[in-house]
Amino acid sequence: MTDDKWGQLRQRLLKTVGQNNFTTWIEPLELDQVNAGVATFHVPTNFMGNYVSQNFADLILHEFNMSGESVQRLAFKVAANSPTRPVQPTAAEALEAPAVAQAYGAGAQQSEGMGFVKSPLEELQAAPLDPRFTFDSFVVGKPNELAHAAARRVGEGGPVTFNPLVLYGGVGLGKTHLMHAIAWELKERNPELNVLYLSAEQFMYRFVQALRERKMMDFKHLFRSVDVLMVDDVQFIAGKDSTQEEFFHTFNALVDQNKQIIISADRAPGEIKDLEDRVKSRLQCGLVVDLHPTDYELRLGILQTKVQQNRKNYPDLKIADGVLELLAHRISTNVRVLEGALTRLFAFASLVGREIDMDLTQDCLADVLRASERKITVEEIQRKVSEYYNIRMSDIIGPKRLRSYARPRQVAMYLCKQLTSRSLPEIGRRFGGRDHTTVMHGVKRIEELKLIDGQIAEDVEMLRRALEA
Ligand code: ADP
Ligand code: MG
Repeated sequence: MTDDKWGQLRQRLLKTVGQNNFTTWIEPLELDQVNAGVATFHVPTNFMGNYVSQNFADLILHEFNMSGESVQRLAFKVAANSPTRPVQPTAAEALEAPAVAQAYGAGAQQSEGMGFVKSPLEELQAAPLDPRFTFDSFVVGKPNELAHAAARRVGEGGPVTFNPLVLYGGVGLGKTHLMHAIAWELKERNPELNVLYLSAEQFMYRFVQALRERKMMDFKHLFRSVDVLMVDDVQFIAGKDSTQEEFFHTFNALVDQNKQIIISADRAPGEIKDLEDRVKSRLQCGLVVDLHPTDYELRLGILQTKVQQNRKNYPDLKIADGVLELLAHRISTNVRVLEGALTRLFAFASLVGREIDMDLTQDCLADVLRASERKITVEEIQRKVSEYYNIRMSDIIGPKRLRSYARPRQVAMYLCKQLTSRSLPEIGRRFGGRDHTTVMHGVKRIEELKLIDGQIAEDVEMLRRALEA
C-alpha cells in the first residue's frame, strides 16, 4: 500500500473515531507492510497494540477493504528498541477476547490471567470458562435477582430439582456470566464433576464434524457422559433441523439420567422462531427465568464494582463525582457497552495522566454517549405531558386557549426544545401548525415560571425524568 493511500485511509479513520481517539491510538500506528492479507503495524507499546486491536480492529479492517486492499487481519509489532513481540494478532481473536483483560494490559495478559478448565472431554473443544465470570463479580439487582437466585441454587449442586434451567434475556445482560459462574461453583465444590459448557454454535459444529468423520457414536457417547451440560445461546440452532434433532436426543438422554442441563437463549423458548415444538416444550419443562433489562441502580452498582476491581491495576485512578452516574444514566443498552466505556475511560485517563472528570468523559466517550442518546420524540413528549396533566393529547395540540390547556402546552413545547433537536418552527408545526414565535414565547414563559413557581419546576423535572428514563 502506498503512503498516499494509507494517508487517505487515516483521514477516514479520523472522521470515524474523532480527533481524540485518533491522536491517541491511530496516529502513532506506523504501517509496516501489507502482505498476504495481513497488515502489520509498528506500535510504541504492547499495550497500545492490544488496545487498538481490541477497539479499532474491525474499523481499520473495514477501511482497508473499502480502499481495495484485501486485509483479513492486523498484526502489531512493538517498535525497534523494545523487544519485538507480536500482540494478539488476528482481528477475530481480538474482537472475541474479553475486553477487560486486554485493555488493562500489563498484569492482565491473557496467557496468565485465563485459567482454562480442563476436562476429560477436552477433545470436545468445550469453550473455556472466563475466570472473571464468577458469582463474586456478579452484581445483583432487581432486574436479575431471580435469575441469580436460580443460578446459585443450581451452582450448589446436589439433587437436580429443576431441569433444565433456562436463562433468557437480551444481549449483554449476564447470561453467559451466570452460566460460567455456575460452572466455576460446581467445579469448586466437586472437581470431579464433568461440566461441559459450550455455545449452541459449537454444539452444531461438533455435530456436523462428527457426521462428516463418521464419529457419531463417539459424539453421542461423549455428550451423554457429562454430568452437567450447558448450552449457551440456544436460539442459534433454530431452523437447523438435524442439529435440533440431535440436541433433542442428547437433552432427553441426559434428563433421563437426571443430569443437570442449563440453557441460555436471547428470548423465551416459546418465542424462538423455527425452534421445533418438541424442543420448545422440553425447555419449558424446567425453570425458565429471565434477565430483565438493567435499571439505573443496577448499572451504577456494576460500575462501582468494576471501578473497585480495577483499583489494583490503576492505583491512582481518580474519578470525579458524577461520572459513574452519567454513564449509568446514559448507557442503558447493555452491560457490555457499559464495561467497554469504563475500560476505555481508564485506559485513556492513565495514558494522558489525568483525573477522570466530566470533560474527559465527554471527550473520550463522545461516540458512545451520542449513540446511546435516546431519541425522544415530540409525540412522546406530548403524550407524557397530557397524561401527566390528565388532559387529552388533542387538547395539547389543538387551538384551545384555556389556561388549563395552555400551560401544559407550554411545558410540552419547553420540553421539546430541551430534549429534542427540533427547531422552533418544526416544533410549532407539530403543535397544530403554530408559529415559531408562539413556541419561543412558550419556552420563555416556562423558563421564567420555573424560577418563581416551585410547582412548575417540579412538574418539568418529573416529566423530564420520566421521558429520559
Ligand atoms: P450475555 O451472555 O447475556 O449476552 P454476558 O454474560 O456476556 O451477557 O455479559 C456481558 C458483560 O457484562 C460481561 O462482561 C459480564 O461480566 C458483564 N455483566 C453482565 N451483567 C453483570 C452483572 N450483573 N454484574 C457484573 N457484570 C455483569
Ligand atoms: Mg452470552
